[in-house]
Amino acid sequence: ATPTSIMVGTGRAAEMGVLFRKGDALQALGEIKVIAFDKTGTLTLGRPELTDMVVTPDQDDASVLAQIAGIEAQSEHPIARAVVQAAARRGLVPPEADAVEAVNGLGLRGRVDGRDILIGSAQLMRQCGIPSDVFERHYRMFQDQAKTPVLVAIDGRIAAVLGVADPIKPGAAAALSALRAEGIEVAMITGDAWGTARAVARQLGISLIEAEVLPGEKRDAVRRLRDAHGEIAFVGDGINDAPALAEADVGLAIGNGTDVAIESADVVLVSGDLAGAVNALHMSRATLRNIR
Ligand code: ADP
Ligand code: MG
Repeated sequence: ATPTSIMVGTGRAAEMGVLFRKGDALQALGEIKVIAFDKTGTLTLGRPELTDMVVTPDQDDASVLAQIAGIEAQSEHPIARAVVQAAARRGLVPPEADAVEAVNGLGLRGRVDGRDILIGSAQLMRQCGIPSDVFERHYRMFQDQAKTPVLVAIDGRIAAVLGVADPIKPGAAAALSALRAEGIEVAMITGDAWGTARAVARQLGISLIEAEVLPGEKRDAVRRLRDAHGEIAFVGDGINDAPALAEADVGLAIGNGTDVAIESADVVLVSGDLAGAVNALHMSRATLRNIR
């Protein structure tokens, strides 16, 4: 690559809101065979809303919502913000929570009003030895609706199930079609439940899915996709996406994502619009053509 063609390419990309943090990324991007996307905040808006809540007959939904909001107030996870916001909208005052800690990247544990509360996926409940078949039907239904299902256990027993919806970004489907039209395989890597991942993937025409991936394992998922398909780009926004962004041949961070993600990336999509990924690819290929 000549320095001049790279400078022209990165300059044009910047005008379109695509920042190349490393010059060699322009060339590397033009050679990728597969592009993998994180789901939450990358393919979806990342502003989830609590849309559903069902409690067991012995529980009161307002008090359960207030208690879990007390715990989630100490988390920065998008689901946590959705819970806190829902409680505020209902005018509930969350009680103070103690001993709040994240568990295995799958949820939170804490103490509220003298009760032990666990919030997270069915996988988390299983890991903590809590039978989670109480709301099996709802858990499956929320996933089919592309919602993230969240279980709440109080003192070791399931007390509620929540449905959290996070709409797909406008323009995501068009961007993925454009990438496929360039002959690139499109994949999704997510920590979310399999059913939710499949429902979102169906709406976007994605057939390669890695779901229920623990934060520490997104990097392995990138390696597996590279072994199967060749040079890989990964697009993500979260703290847990940083290792995957660093591992990929080209890491693209969403501009309004976390600082850690941006620092680990080779390319930043300033507006978060996925059309930026398509523009970046076109720019890379055009630059490579000029060079060859
Ligand atoms: P993603 O890869 O989509 O960004 P994460 O790895 O952040 O997802 O989270 C994976 C799953 O862990 C979530 O879908 C949710 O079930 C659960 N989870 C993580 N943190 C929380 C939390 N603070 N409250 C409720 N559930 C959580
Ligand atoms: Mg994310």
